[in-house]
Amino acid sequence: MNGWLAWAKEDVKRGPQHCHDCGTKPGEIHVTGCDVERCSVCAGQRLQCGCEGHDPSFARWTGFLPGKLEAIALGIDLNELVRGGWARLFFVKPRDFTERRKR
Ligand SMILES: [Zn+2]
Ligand SMILES: [Zn+2]
Repeated sequence: MNGWLAWAKEDVKRGPQHCHDCGTKPGEIHVTGCDVERCSVCAGQRLQCGCEGHDPSFARWTGFLPGKLEAIALGIDLNELVRGGWARLFFVKPRDFTERRKR
């Protein structure tokens, strides 16, 4: 097992934490400009992109680094998760169901 995975598994046992960048509580929305927040449109770092239609509530802080629990479950590290295209799967908000039905 690689080092990150071993560390991450131990770390999540501490339970949900406040966001280490903006200090927001688990289940709450990141403060604007937080470097942890993921964009719900492009899956990138929200701080780095200017996508329109980003939904901060979809990208809320869960108490764990975005993708961390998924990466542990998949047995890969966070970089692999982002590189492998998993990020889009987990961080991008799908189009609204009601909106889709109208078409
Ligand atoms: Zn934050
Ligand atoms: Zn974006």
